[in-house]
Amino acid sequence: GDTSKPWSRVVLKLSGEAFASPAADETIDGGVVDRIAKEIAEVCHDLGVEMAVVVGGGNIWRGATGSASGMDRASADYMGMLATVINALALRDALERQGQPTRVQTAIGMSELAEPYIRLRAIRHLEKGRVVVFAAGTGNPFFTTDTAGALRAVEIEADVLLKGTHGNTDGVYDADPATHPEATKLDEVSFDEVIAKDLRAMDLTAITLCKENGMPILYFSIMEPGNLRRALSGERIGTLIR
Ligand code: UDP
Repeated sequence: GDTSKPWSRVVLKLSGEAFASPAADETIDGGVVDRIAKEIAEVCHDLGVEMAVVVGGGNIWRGATGSASGMDRASADYMGMLATVINALALRDALERQGQPTRVQTAIGMSELAEPYIRLRAIRHLEKGRVVVFAAGTGNPFFTTDTAGALRAVEIEADVLLKGTHGNTDGVYDADPATHPEATKLDEVSFDEVIAKDLRAMDLTAITLCKENGMPILYFSIMEPGNLRRALSGERIGTLIR
Protein backbone atom coordinates (compact mmCIF):
# COMPACT_ATOMS: atom_id res chain seq x y z
CA GLY A 1 0.00 0.00 0.00
CA ASP A 2 0.87 3.65 0.28
CA THR A 3 3.93 4.00 2.48
CA SER A 4 4.31 7.77 2.52
CA LYS A 5 4.28 9.21 6.02
CA PRO A 6 0.79 10.60 6.44
CA TRP A 7 1.16 12.44 9.75
CA SER A 8 4.10 14.27 11.31
CA ARG A 9 2.69 15.11 14.75
CA VAL A 10 0.37 12.73 16.56
CA VAL A 11 -1.25 12.17 19.92
CA LEU A 12 -1.52 8.53 20.96
CA LYS A 13 -4.21 7.73 23.50
CA LEU A 14 -3.44 4.60 25.51
CA SER A 15 -5.97 3.17 27.92
CA GLY A 16 -4.72 2.03 31.29
CA GLU A 17 -5.69 -1.51 30.38
CA ALA A 18 -3.05 -1.46 27.67
CA PHE A 19 -0.49 -1.56 30.53
CA ALA A 20 -2.05 -4.45 32.43
CA SER A 21 -1.94 -8.20 32.02
CA PRO A 22 -5.26 -9.68 33.09
CA ALA A 23 -3.85 -13.20 32.77
CA ALA A 24 -1.06 -12.58 35.26
CA ASP A 25 -3.34 -10.29 37.28
CA GLU A 26 -0.80 -7.48 37.10
CA THR A 27 -1.84 -3.83 37.25
CA ILE A 28 1.22 -2.79 35.29
CA ASP A 29 2.96 -5.53 33.32
CA GLY A 30 6.58 -4.49 32.75
CA GLY A 31 6.83 -6.65 29.65
CA VAL A 32 3.76 -5.09 28.07
CA VAL A 33 4.90 -1.54 28.86
CA ASP A 34 8.34 -2.31 27.44
CA ARG A 35 6.82 -3.65 24.22
CA ILE A 36 4.70 -0.54 23.71
CA ALA A 37 7.62 1.74 24.63
CA LYS A 38 9.84 -0.05 22.12
CA GLU A 39 7.30 0.44 19.35
CA ILE A 40 6.90 4.12 20.21
CA ALA A 41 10.66 4.70 20.37
CA GLU A 42 11.19 2.93 17.05
CA VAL A 43 8.58 4.87 15.10
CA CYS A 44 9.80 8.16 16.57
CA HIS A 45 13.34 7.31 15.56
CA ASP A 46 12.72 5.67 12.19
CA LEU A 47 9.88 7.81 10.90
CA GLY A 48 10.72 11.07 12.66
CA VAL A 49 7.18 11.39 13.94
CA GLU A 50 6.55 13.85 16.78
CA MET A 51 4.61 11.87 19.36
CA ALA A 52 2.72 12.82 22.47
CA VAL A 53 0.99 10.14 24.54
CA VAL A 54 -2.07 10.55 26.72
CA VAL A 55 -2.34 7.72 29.24
CA GLY A 56 -5.47 6.47 30.96
CA GLY A 57 -5.73 5.00 34.42
CA GLY A 58 -8.46 2.39 34.21
CA ASN A 59 -6.08 -0.45 35.09
CA ILE A 60 -5.70 1.13 38.54
CA TRP A 61 -8.83 3.14 39.26
CA ARG A 62 -11.87 4.59 37.56
CA GLY A 63 -13.95 7.37 39.07
CA ALA A 64 -17.19 5.62 38.12
CA THR A 65 -16.23 2.61 40.25
CA GLY A 66 -15.85 4.77 43.32
CA SER A 67 -19.02 6.74 42.75
CA ALA A 68 -20.98 3.48 42.22
CA SER A 69 -20.05 2.49 45.77
CA GLY A 70 -21.19 5.84 47.16
CA MET A 71 -18.01 7.87 46.93
CA ASP A 72 -18.20 11.54 45.98
CA ARG A 73 -17.69 11.60 42.20
CA ALA A 74 -15.16 14.42 42.12
CA SER A 75 -12.98 12.73 44.79
CA ALA A 76 -13.15 9.44 42.93
CA ASP A 77 -12.19 11.21 39.69
CA TYR A 78 -9.16 12.87 41.29
CA MET A 79 -8.06 9.38 42.35
CA GLY A 80 -8.42 8.32 38.72
CA MET A 81 -6.31 11.23 37.52
CA LEU A 82 -3.58 10.23 39.99
CA ALA A 83 -3.77 6.69 38.59
CA THR A 84 -2.87 8.04 35.14
CA VAL A 85 0.26 9.62 36.63
CA ILE A 86 1.43 6.20 37.86
CA ASN A 87 1.06 4.82 34.34
CA ALA A 88 2.80 7.86 32.85
CA LEU A 89 5.84 7.36 35.09
CA ALA A 90 6.01 3.68 34.10
CA LEU A 91 5.88 4.64 30.42
CA ARG A 92 8.52 7.35 30.80
CA ASP A 93 10.82 4.88 32.52
CA ALA A 94 10.33 2.31 29.77
CA LEU A 95 10.82 4.88 26.98
CA GLU A 96 14.00 6.26 28.54
CA ARG A 97 15.36 2.70 28.80
CA GLN A 98 14.75 2.43 25.04
CA GLY A 99 16.94 5.52 24.60
CA GLN A 100 13.93 7.73 23.83
CA PRO A 101 14.12 11.10 25.62
CA THR A 102 10.76 11.60 27.33
CA ARG A 103 9.02 14.23 29.43
CA VAL A 104 5.92 13.80 31.55
CA GLN A 105 3.59 16.78 31.88
CA THR A 106 0.75 16.65 34.39
CA ALA A 107 -2.52 18.59 34.30
CA ILE A 108 -2.40 18.67 38.11
CA GLY A 109 0.79 20.18 39.49
CA MET A 110 3.26 17.76 41.08
CA SER A 111 6.53 19.38 40.21
CA GLU A 112 8.69 16.98 42.21
CA LEU A 113 8.03 14.19 39.75
CA ALA A 114 6.90 15.77 36.48
CA GLU A 115 6.59 19.07 34.64
CA PRO A 116 3.32 20.94 34.76
CA TYR A 117 1.37 20.99 31.50
CA ILE A 118 2.59 23.97 29.49
CA ARG A 119 1.39 23.90 25.92
CA LEU A 120 4.23 25.72 24.19
CA ARG A 121 6.81 23.83 26.21
CA ALA A 122 5.22 20.54 25.18
CA ILE A 123 5.42 21.61 21.52
CA ARG A 124 9.08 22.58 21.99
CA HIS A 125 9.84 19.13 23.46
CA LEU A 126 8.20 17.49 20.45
CA GLU A 127 10.20 19.63 18.04
CA LYS A 128 13.37 18.48 19.81
CA GLY A 129 12.44 14.84 19.31
CA ARG A 130 11.23 14.14 22.81
CA VAL A 131 8.13 12.12 23.53
CA VAL A 132 5.73 13.99 25.80
CA VAL A 133 3.49 11.93 28.06
CA PHE A 134 0.44 13.87 29.22
CA ALA A 135 -0.85 12.71 32.58
CA ALA A 136 -3.70 13.54 34.97
CA GLY A 137 -6.16 13.81 32.11
CA THR A 138 -7.65 17.25 31.66
CA GLY A 139 -7.11 18.04 35.36
CA ASN A 140 -10.88 18.17 35.86
CA PRO A 141 -13.28 15.63 37.33
CA PHE A 142 -16.20 14.44 35.18
CA PHE A 143 -13.93 14.07 32.17
CA THR A 144 -12.06 11.10 30.72
CA THR A 145 -8.62 10.59 29.32
CA ASP A 146 -10.23 10.09 25.89
CA THR A 147 -11.35 13.70 26.17
CA ALA A 148 -7.89 14.67 27.42
CA GLY A 149 -6.50 13.00 24.29
CA ALA A 150 -8.83 14.98 22.05
CA LEU A 151 -8.09 18.21 23.91
CA ARG A 152 -4.31 17.83 23.79
CA ALA A 153 -4.41 16.79 20.13
CA VAL A 154 -6.31 19.96 19.26
CA GLU A 155 -4.15 22.13 21.51
CA ILE A 156 -0.78 21.02 20.17
CA GLU A 157 -2.13 21.02 16.59
CA ALA A 158 -1.55 17.34 16.01
CA ASP A 159 -2.44 15.86 12.62
CA VAL A 160 -4.39 12.98 14.13
CA LEU A 161 -5.51 11.44 17.39
CA LEU A 162 -4.49 7.78 17.50
CA LYS A 163 -6.85 5.83 19.73
CA GLY A 164 -4.99 2.61 20.51
CA THR A 165 -7.44 0.07 21.83
CA HIS A 166 -6.45 -2.73 24.15
CA GLY A 167 -9.27 -5.28 23.68
CA ASN A 168 -10.10 -7.43 20.69
CA THR A 169 -11.50 -4.50 18.78
CA ASP A 170 -9.50 -3.72 15.66
CA GLY A 171 -11.74 -0.93 14.48
CA VAL A 172 -15.16 0.65 14.59
CA TYR A 173 -18.01 -1.64 13.51
CA ASP A 174 -21.34 -0.63 11.98
CA ALA A 175 -23.09 -2.22 14.99
CA ASP A 176 -21.99 -3.72 18.31
CA PRO A 177 -20.19 -6.98 17.33
CA ALA A 178 -20.99 -8.46 20.74
CA THR A 179 -24.71 -8.44 20.01
CA HIS A 180 -24.63 -8.30 16.18
CA PRO A 181 -22.39 -11.10 14.82
CA GLU A 182 -23.01 -9.84 11.28
CA ALA A 183 -21.50 -6.43 12.10
CA THR A 184 -18.75 -5.36 9.72
CA LYS A 185 -15.67 -3.27 10.34
CA LEU A 186 -15.62 0.20 8.80
CA ASP A 187 -12.44 1.46 7.14
CA GLU A 188 -13.69 5.00 7.43
CA VAL A 189 -16.68 6.61 9.13
CA SER A 190 -17.88 10.16 9.74
CA PHE A 191 -18.13 11.79 13.16
CA ASP A 192 -21.86 12.23 12.56
CA GLU A 193 -22.39 8.53 11.94
CA VAL A 194 -20.41 7.56 15.04
CA ILE A 195 -22.54 9.93 17.09
CA ALA A 196 -25.90 9.09 15.47
CA LYS A 197 -25.43 5.31 15.69
CA ASP A 198 -23.63 5.46 19.04
CA LEU A 199 -20.76 3.37 17.67
CA ARG A 200 -18.77 3.84 20.88
CA ALA A 201 -15.36 4.56 19.46
CA MET A 202 -14.60 7.09 22.22
CA ASP A 203 -16.80 8.97 24.63
CA LEU A 204 -19.08 11.62 23.16
CA THR A 205 -17.24 14.57 24.67
CA ALA A 206 -14.05 13.45 22.95
CA ILE A 207 -15.80 12.74 19.62
CA THR A 208 -17.56 16.10 19.68
CA LEU A 209 -14.38 18.00 20.46
CA CYS A 210 -12.62 16.29 17.56
CA LYS A 211 -15.55 16.90 15.23
CA GLU A 212 -15.76 20.59 16.05
CA ASN A 213 -12.06 21.05 15.48
CA GLY A 214 -11.59 18.80 12.46
CA MET A 215 -9.29 16.42 14.33
CA PRO A 216 -9.36 12.98 12.67
CA ILE A 217 -9.24 9.91 14.90
CA LEU A 218 -7.58 6.64 13.92
CA TYR A 219 -9.09 3.86 16.00
CA PHE A 220 -6.90 0.73 15.95
CA SER A 221 -5.61 -2.10 18.12
CA ILE A 222 -2.37 -1.35 19.95
CA MET A 223 -2.21 -4.96 21.13
CA GLU A 224 -1.27 -6.16 17.66
CA PRO A 225 2.52 -5.71 17.50
CA GLY A 226 3.65 -3.51 14.61
CA ASN A 227 0.33 -1.70 14.31
CA LEU A 228 1.70 1.64 15.45
CA ARG A 229 4.30 1.57 12.69
CA ARG A 230 1.70 0.44 10.16
CA ALA A 231 -0.60 3.31 11.12
CA LEU A 232 2.18 5.88 10.93
CA SER A 233 3.55 4.51 7.67
CA GLY A 234 0.23 5.11 5.95
CA GLU A 235 -1.11 1.56 5.91
CA ARG A 236 -4.88 1.48 6.17
CA ILE A 237 -5.49 -0.24 9.47
CA GLY A 238 -8.27 0.22 12.01
CA THR A 239 -10.94 2.81 11.32
CA LEU A 240 -10.44 6.44 10.38
CA ILE A 241 -13.09 8.72 11.87
CA ARG A 242 -13.34 12.15 10.29
N1 UDP B 1 -10.33 11.34 35.00
C1 UDP B 1 -10.89 12.57 35.31
N2 UDP B 1 -10.68 13.63 34.45
C2 UDP B 1 -9.95 13.52 33.33
C3 UDP B 1 -9.40 12.26 33.00
C4 UDP B 1 -9.60 11.18 33.85
O1 UDP B 1 -11.57 12.69 36.31
O2 UDP B 1 -9.79 14.52 32.61
C5 UDP B 1 -10.47 10.21 35.95
C6 UDP B 1 -11.79 9.47 35.81
O3 UDP B 1 -12.22 9.11 37.11
C7 UDP B 1 -11.40 8.22 35.03
C8 UDP B 1 -10.01 7.96 35.55
O4 UDP B 1 -9.46 9.26 35.74
O5 UDP B 1 -12.25 7.13 35.30
C9 UDP B 1 -9.14 7.16 34.64
O6 UDP B 1 -9.20 7.66 33.32
P1 UDP B 1 -9.93 6.83 32.16
O7 UDP B 1 -11.11 6.10 32.68
O8 UDP B 1 -10.15 7.75 31.04
O9 UDP B 1 -8.79 5.79 31.79
P2 UDP B 1 -8.76 4.66 30.67
O10 UDP B 1 -10.14 4.11 30.50
O11 UDP B 1 -8.29 5.30 29.41
O12 UDP B 1 -7.77 3.66 31.19
